[in-house]
Amino acid sequence: MNTVDIGDHCVECLQSTAMGSGKFVNRVPAGNEKYDGFMCAECQMIECDRCDELTLEYNTINGEWVCDDCLTDDELLELLKEDT
Ligand SMILES: [Zn+2]
Ligand SMILES: [Zn+2]
Repeated sequence: MNTVDIGDHCVECLQSTAMGSGKFVNRVPAGNEKYDGFMCAECQMIECDRCDELTLEYNTINGEWVCDDCLTDDELLELLKEDT
């Protein structure tokens, strides 16, 4: 399998994530079947299963993707417990 090294570019949207591009923050090294490079924050976002908003800060609750805003107090406590 040959992948193309696209350097500072996002493997999903192919836009530059270089410093000064506005996408440098929150980029992560990434690769797919075609490209080797980075993934910008926008392309890492997922849709919350409860409010349908795109978010970077999500939690998995019983197989659901849930953004921080949609967590119930009980779920939040549960997550904090797991961290310790
Ligand atoms: Zn992207
Ligand atoms: Zn939500």
